[in-house]
Order: sequence, then C-alpha cells, then structure tokens
Amino acid sequence: MENKTVEIIRKSLNTLSDNDSFLPELDGDSRVKAFSSLAAILSTPNHVNKSFLPIALDNGQVVRIPAFRVQHNNVAGPYKGGIRFHESINENEIIDLSILMTLKSALHDVPFGGAKGGVVINPREFSIKELHIICQNYVQYFNQMIGPDKDIPAPDVGTSDREMDWMMSEFKSINPGTQYLDSFTGKSVDSGGSLGRVSATGKGVYYTFRYLFDDFLSNHEDWIGEQDNLFSRRALELHNKPLRIAIQGFGNVGSVAALEAYESKSLNNKVISISNHSVTLLNDEGLDIPALIQFVDSNHGGLPKTKAELNEASINATILDSSEILKLDMDVLILAALGNQIHNENMKDVKAKVIVEGANDPVTSEADKYLNKQGVIIIPDILANAGGVIVSYFEWIQGRETKFISENEVYKRLYDKMKNTLDNIYPQFFRHSFSLRETCLIHSVTKLSTILYRQGELF
Ligand code: NAD
Repeated sequence: MENKTVEIIRKSLNTLSDNDSFLPELDGDSRVKAFSSLAAILSTPNHVNKSFLPIALDNGQVVRIPAFRVQHNNVAGPYKGGIRFHESINENEIIDLSILMTLKSALHDVPFGGAKGGVVINPREFSIKELHIICQNYVQYFNQMIGPDKDIPAPDVGTSDREMDWMMSEFKSINPGTQYLDSFTGKSVDSGGSLGRVSATGKGVYYTFRYLFDDFLSNHEDWIGEQDNLFSRRALELHNKPLRIAIQGFGNVGSVAALEAYESKSLNNKVISISNHSVTLLNDEGLDIPALIQFVDSNHGGLPKTKAELNEASINATILDSSEILKLDMDVLILAALGNQIHNENMKDVKAKVIVEGANDPVTSEADKYLNKQGVIIIPDILANAGGVIVSYFEWIQGRETKFISENEVYKRLYDKMKNTLDNIYPQFFRHSFSLRETCLIHSVTKLSTILYRQGELF
C-alpha cells in the first residue's frame, strides 16, 4: 500500500491542479504534464546512498553494517535530516522519513531540503569504542555528499549529541581548512551546539496544542463557531474545559512535553498518565511530573515499575501494562514514542479527542482516516514535532556566524517561528473539510511546487 505521506502528496497535487488560481500560467496540456512531474519529483528521493560499513569490533572480528543516507529533495535549501541507529530500519522507511523532512521544513519556512540517515544496529549491543568507529566510518563513506551547504545531519532515534560531536570531529579532520561548526546539528553545547536544542522538540509539541486550545480558540471563538464542521465543533467542545492528557513515551520529547503541560498556567490541563516501553502510570488527579523526571534521571531512564519504587519516589499512581495508555479515558493523547502505534487493530479503542504526534508517523494511514472521520483532531508530526529542525536551523546559523544566542532567545525564536506556521494553518484547517495533516501537506506541497516551477524544474 502507498505510504500515507505519498498518498497525501498526490491528493494535495490533485487539489492544487483543480485550483485555477494556483500557477494560472500553466494550463491545458502543460498543466497536466507539470502536475505529473511534481508527483514524480515529490514522491521519490533524489539519491539513495548505501554502504556496508566494515567495522572492526573490540574482539577483532570485522562485521559489515548496512548504512544509508537518503537525500529526498534540496530545491528549498541544503538537505537536512537525522541519522537513526536502530536494528529494524530499512531503506523504504528512511525514504519515507526523508520525504517527511522536506515537507516539514517547507511547512515551517526553514530553508532546508529533506534527508535521512540510518545505520542498522541496536546501539545498546555495541561498546562506546565500536560506536565511535561506526560514526567515523559513516562520515568517511558519506563525506562527499554531506557538508554545511550540501547535507547537514542531526541526531535521531538511537543517536545524540555524543554521536554528532564524533561525526563533526571526523568531518573536520578529513576536510581540513573547511568550515565545520555548521556541518552537523544537535551537537553538544561544548562543541558548538545550540542552547535549548535538547528541549526544543518537546516544547514545540506542547506549544502546537496549547496555542490551539488557548490563544487561537480564544481569539477566534465566534469565527470557529460559524464554520460549523466536525472539527470546529470538537474544538469548541473542549475549549475552556479541564483537559486530561496522556503521554506515550517518556524520553526526551515525552518528558519535556509532560513538564510543559504540568507547568502550564494558561490551560487547565493535567497529565493523568504517562508510559514508556515497560509500563503505564495512571493517576486521575494528575501525576507529579517533576518527581517522575527526577526518578528517571537517577534510574538510567526507567520509570517506576513497582509499588515499592513508586513509594520510594513518593509518587502516587496505578501501574498498568505499557499498551494500556492508548485506551484510557482522556481528552488529549500525545504520542512521543515510536511510529505505527495506533493502527487497524487498536484504533477503535482510542478515546482521545485530540492526538498530538510528537513521534514521526505514530498513526498508520488506515487509523488516520478512521480517527479523522470520528472528528479526532490530529496535530500531525510535521506540524507538532518540528521544534528540533527549527532549532537545528538556529544552530546552523550560529555555527556559520560563530555567534551564539541565549537559551531564552532560542525559545523565543522557536515559538515565533511556530506561531507563524500555526497562524497560517489553523484558519485553513477550520475553514476547509481537510484533516489537519492534509492541510499542512497541501501548504508544503504548494510551496515546494511553486519553487520547483519558478526554478524551471518541471519541464
Ligand atoms: P527517546 O529515545 O528519548 O524516548 C523514547 C521513549 O519512548 C522512551 O521513554 C521509551 O521507553 C518509549 N517507548 C519505546 N517503545 C515504547 C512503546 N512500545 N510504548 C511506550 N513507550 C515506548 O526518544 P525521543 O527523542 O523522545 O523521540 C521520541 C520520538 O519522537 C521518536 O519517534 C523520534 O523519532 C521523534 N522525534 C524526536 C525528535 C527529537 O528532537 N528528539 C524530533 C522529531 C521527532
């Protein structure tokens, strides 16, 4: 079956093609050809680069590890995207994620194209020395195609500032004399990373939801009432009500979003449940998020799994199975774990009225269609989790200028940028009959199509 994003790209192009005011200079046969060129260009990557990296393990054995760098499109700026270390990734998944990056940057007016990298390993099965060698080898192999004006990698699942520091260092040593501070983003602050980068995605995820249910609804209540469609009725139903939030995944994105919700002064919301790969914790009165973060920090990332551990941390909660979180009675579900979490088999159990996609692609195509029909407002990944790429853009600029800004200034610029996008997208969403995901993708595809046409790429 066609991937959800590619399916929506095609739908967006059909909508644009029927809209006579979009690129009116294209008509008749030339319009048909241009739109078929757009479909071909936007649904396939420019380059799929692959290698089997030869890695000498600590025990002296050499293994070959599959590694990819997919570059989808760079019409809007240099390629940009994370490098994922995970045992189950494959070429098609990396292609899909690279397409998502092109669309995400276009949506938020970030002057980058889309790319994604991957190394097929479970990083927990390798020593630090072996991981260091894998990072060096990755840069050596892909050196010709990456660089500050070509393709700028960043961390993703299984990688962090440690790997970016190693990779930047390797890039610097094999390209002496060239600029390097802007060659990788998501680096440690010591190595030229941006303040605020680590919290940026989680903060942005919560902001897209808070902005909708606080500022936007308060300022447009009457106008939204006049739209009278499934989504406007749902939004008004929840406006100014106490909101019960559950968050799947309590890593970087989930824990930051949870703390933002916990500390929110503008919305009457409480986090009633959080989960990770091994457990769901529930407290109808609201969980003590700072205490949970403290527990996780001092227990190598794990949440309390037993009554004794909960007591030890003075946390009041019921312990449930990890998968239970998706079925709880709640208003808002933030998905901040992995892809494909809500699918054909569990979509009918979901009671949330709003879903926020912190993770990439956590709702399958079929579940997306079903939930939209039920009037569930899904704030999609490309809108909600762009905080990372936006602050990466700030890091890239800071690296080029070797001039660094404060953490508060980073957040201010992040919210300003996201607000611009939200002020563009939310009115379109409530005005038309498209889902929020379709609204975002139509916006991105419109922008990319215009650039491709203006730059003479369609014929
Ligand atoms: P992370 O590794 O820090 O945290 C992931 C969390 O998900 C952990 O708490 C883990 O226990 C939990 N988890 C794993 N499997 C689970 C399961 N089956 N059920 C419930 N929980 C499960 O990762 P992160 O940086 O927080 O990223 C989370 C998601 O957001 C990923 O999909 C990532 O691609 C996406 N994302 C992250 C960023 C970023 O800047 N960190 C940016 C964009 C998108």
